[in-house]
Amino acid sequence: MSPLFPALAEASADPHGPGAHRPALRFGDRSLTYGELAGVAAPLAERLAGAGRIAVWATPTLETAVAVVAALLAGVPAVPLNPKSGESELGHIVSDSAPTLVLAGPGDQLPSALGGLGRADVDVRATRTSRVPEDPSPETPALIVYTSGTTGPPKGAVIPRRAIAATLDALADAWQWTGDDVLVHGLPLFHVHGLILGILGPLRRGGSVRHLGRFETAGVARELSEGATMLFGVPTMYHRIAEALPEDPALAKSLGRARLLVSGSAALPVHDHERIAAATGRRVIERYGMTETLMNTSVRADGEPRAGTVGVPLPGVELRLTEEDGVTAVEAYDGETVGEIQVRGPNLFTEYLNRPDATAAAFTEDGWFRTGDMAVRDPDGYVRIVGRKATDLIKSGGYKIGAGEIENALLEYPGVREAAVTGEPDADLGERIVAWIVPDTEPQTETGSAQSPPSAEELADHVARRLAPHKRPRVVRYLDALPRNDMGKIMKRALPHD
Ligand code: ATP
Ligand code: MG
Repeated sequence: MSPLFPALAEASADPHGPGAHRPALRFGDRSLTYGELAGVAAPLAERLAGAGRIAVWATPTLETAVAVVAALLAGVPAVPLNPKSGESELGHIVSDSAPTLVLAGPGDQLPSALGGLGRADVDVRATRTSRVPEDPSPETPALIVYTSGTTGPPKGAVIPRRAIAATLDALADAWQWTGDDVLVHGLPLFHVHGLILGILGPLRRGGSVRHLGRFETAGVARELSEGATMLFGVPTMYHRIAEALPEDPALAKSLGRARLLVSGSAALPVHDHERIAAATGRRVIERYGMTETLMNTSVRADGEPRAGTVGVPLPGVELRLTEEDGVTAVEAYDGETVGEIQVRGPNLFTEYLNRPDATAAAFTEDGWFRTGDMAVRDPDGYVRIVGRKATDLIKSGGYKIGAGEIENALLEYPGVREAAVTGEPDADLGERIVAWIVPDTEPQTETGSAQSPPSAEELADHVARRLAPHKRPRVVRYLDALPRNDMGKIMKRALPHD
């Protein structure tokens, strides 16, 4: 296999060549060129060689990016740890993945759950030149990434180098992503989105990334107006952008300049997509992926960006929808027939760590991975995700109803800030539709007094009119906030009735 990071290999082979001076990583006011990255990651890789598995204390810092690159160069599987995890989750991940060592930044305080591990600090100033090692074989486990824990306890997905290379190259094709692109990044570094796409992606292309440390709209506006070309975000970030736009012409102007605005990790509400398009003239494109599969589909840079869809299968990815038996393919591209998404391709993980039963259950006999996500396909092949099989598909009155379109309809309604839809048992209907609403708390009337939240009846009528009478929520519950995980994903299992 050719090197995972050709520009890094080149900079290491020719430390005085022009490629060595190109920017690679920037976090706040600290940055590394490709030559400098080779100079700090290669010696660390030498130190890691033969270490077994290592953990990385994945703060949003230069140290984390260097640690992961070094582990990849060394061929030592790295387990990124979420520094915001509680002790019990960290304890679970550490005992499950059994790392021999944890890499951290020099000032990091590590919790006692990591007390049994050896520690090595990442020094991003070391400049001893040494050659980056040859790449290990493509099937070598590169990363063990734990799933987001949206539907249950996180599972460790073993991700080989082959999958990382395949997914990043497929995205390069879909997004016309090159070494000239500069990414603005405000995501955490312990999941696929922020780490594989956001850090390894630019490095594989020979381009650069500027990490904001913490997402804020001012940083996005600054970087995009100072030459950055792409933004990757999760829907909660685009929501904040949509909310800020009316008061922030500089933000609108900077987004209007971006080559590519990409959203993923959860569905981007149509209302936010439309508000951003109206204010900036740019449409956010969505891609769909999972820890286990890396990226499966995307709206292409040269395709038509459409609200509410995740685009078409990426090059090399086979995708089908299946009927309830989980093996019969749905042939219809009619925008209506709902099926479970199954995928096959070089982008897939190898297994769940220590979970042979879960691994076996996740694949069909002929090697398709069952995503657990439900979708329809439009006549031209665009995939529209309806929701997760486990939590977002409501069987009510003989209909199968996706939570997503009802959530989108609710979010359009004035005074609704956040919305989630679930099903609960109902004697007549099988399941009844429940809407969870976080009302806008901002004063909305001319006089400045807070508007009362929209009533259950208004909301139900709106959904029935907008979509169909059988999609009307039967129950509306009001909350101060929806339970969300670190990626901003709504954790429906944590809603109060569960
Ligand atoms: P767990 O598997 O632990 O319950 P999780 O599924 O949220 O958590 P991830 O692997 O981080 O963990 O997320 C993958 C899931 O995110 C997909 O299965 C899908 O449900 C959702 N997802 C990702 N991108 C999109 C998107 N663009 N639109 C809708 N859903 C998306
Ligand atoms: Mg999952």
